[in-house]
Amino acid sequence: MDPERLSTKTGATLAELADGCGIDAAGLEATVARYNTDAAKGEDPDFHRGETLYSRVQGDPDHEPNPAVAPIGPGPYYAVEVVPGSLGTFAGVVTDADGAGLGADDRPVPGLYAAGNDMNSIMGGAYPSGGITLGPAMTFGFLAAEAIASGEGAKREEGNMESDPQEVDLLVLGAGAGGMTAALVAALEGLDVLLVEKTGQVGGTTSTSGGTTWVPGTHLSEDRARGGRAEFLDAIVGNRGGEDLRTAFLASGPAAIAELEAKTEVKFAAAAAHPDYLDGPGQAYGGRALGPLAFDGRLLGADFDRIRPPRREFMGLGGMMVGRAELGALLSPFASLGNFRTTITMVGRYGLDRLRYPARHPADHGKCAGGAAASIACARPECRCCSMHRQAN
Ligand SMILES: Cc1cc2nc3c(=O)[nH]c(=O)nc-3n(C[C@H](O)[C@H](O)[C@H](O)COP(=O)(O)OP(=O)(O)OC[C@H]3O[C@@H](n4cnc5c(N)ncnc54)[C@H](O)[C@@H]3O)c2cc1C
Repeated sequence: MDPERLSTKTGATLAELADGCGIDAAGLEATVARYNTDAAKGEDPDFHRGETLYSRVQGDPDHEPNPAVAPIGPGPYYAVEVVPGSLGTFAGVVTDADGAGLGADDRPVPGLYAAGNDMNSIMGGAYPSGGITLGPAMTFGFLAAEAIASGEGAKREEGNMESDPQEVDLLVLGAGAGGMTAALVAALEGLDVLLVEKTGQVGGTTSTSGGTTWVPGTHLSEDRARGGRAEFLDAIVGNRGGEDLRTAFLASGPAAIAELEAKTEVKFAAAAAHPDYLDGPGQAYGGRALGPLAFDGRLLGADFDRIRPPRREFMGLGGMMVGRAELGALLSPFASLGNFRTTITMVGRYGLDRLRYPARHPADHGKCAGGAAASIACARPECRCCSMHRQAN
């Protein structure tokens, strides 16, 4: 998106704001008056804010009767343009529960697997919670790698690689969450993996995403012990997606996260207050949406420059990666000792990084502090996926 288009318009009055935005002033005043009448009652018949648990949690908990809706008071007024974007797709290669691509006869096409946006989404176009593209992308990347590894173990011939150095056990196209998880898990399983990325940097959309990864029932939260996950997805997704794939996702997602956490630098934390987007049976208040933890970019050495940086809008001070958990502290650094300590630590660390690595693009520093793809692209010298990147580039 062109950053210029994000410029904020201001006006001392609604009419002045409308004028600056090039819209009808009387129409804006009438809309605001109508909105205010409903908002005073805590209602939002146009956009339904505050009607779901998720929406209410995003609001101001001290505001009643609806934490997500309040009347618009005296100016000055501000307006930003909201434009549609695309964050994923849901129609793709139809697969079985191992991520194996199916042909027109519903039988697996030998050697073809899909994960991420290339795979026909298990959500079928529904949007039940935050992180529902990355969670399944990583889970089916994991499942595909495991399936390939178990099959390859039996099939691989002794000395095969030596006779033809171009031949690999697994060729992965695209270095996003789906492809990189498959490549990483397959490499950990001992397969020879070639990860082919068409751009100059790995990470894809995953690198520029919010990084929220929806995997219910992991070891990272009490949600593991709770039920209702299948019920929730059945109610929200239902016939829009395949039940067998939903079952595979719920059964194997926690194993995928546990495997990554145990064997790689990919670490997560579960958000305690991140309700599923849609109200329904089995909905959770928190614990299912995971966020990637900070990743020390120094572990990547020279490969650091191969990671696609996050979006500038997700960073502070021109390059400091800011996670959801730190946002509150940075916005109110003097509200508590904890906030102050978090702010000083983050800004101090970022300042030191800028001094130590001045040659790098400011946005690169953000990669030091987090980002889903940065941590998936664990290229520590002792890690097998390191050679994978080198092969690919
Ligand atoms: C601003 C934003 C925020 C988002 N936030 C979230 C979020 O918080 N949680 C969530 O779950 N989802 C989020 N999404 C959606 C999510 O990021 C994507 O759906 C997800 O990253 C897709 O992962 P992927 O592995 O399928 O592909 P990608 O991450 O897009 O990677 C695909 C890679 O394949 C490469 N490629 C393409 N064609 C070829 C080819 N022919 N040969 C070789 N390489 C090729 C591309 O260059 C790219 O690097 C967000 C999206 C956006 C835009």
